[in-house]
Amino acid sequence: MALLIKDDCINCTVCEPECPNSAISAGDGVFVIDSDKCTESVGHFESSQCIDVCPVDCIVPHPSRVESPETLQEKYRRLVADPSS
Ligand code: SF4
Repeated sequence: MALLIKDDCINCTVCEPECPNSAISAGDGVFVIDSDKCTESVGHFESSQCIDVCPVDCIVPHPSRVESPETLQEKYRRLVADPSS
């Protein structure tokens, strides 16, 4: 599944540069994750890099974007082939 940043984000900016897919950006009040680009770091790392660094543990699985490891791997391959997709 893709990941979701909850409203208790403190806008520390730490997660943004850690995302290997450049899926994280400043949003309206809190940082946001582009679900179409989020692979939970699958294809790059063994664990989700944003979750690893977030100081307030406000990044969680997106409840409406449940995706299997295989689907995340396919998303990773698509993004590598066409980063703008
Ligand atoms: Fe928000 Fe956590 Fe990212 Fe900091 S690391 S900007 S608190 S989601």
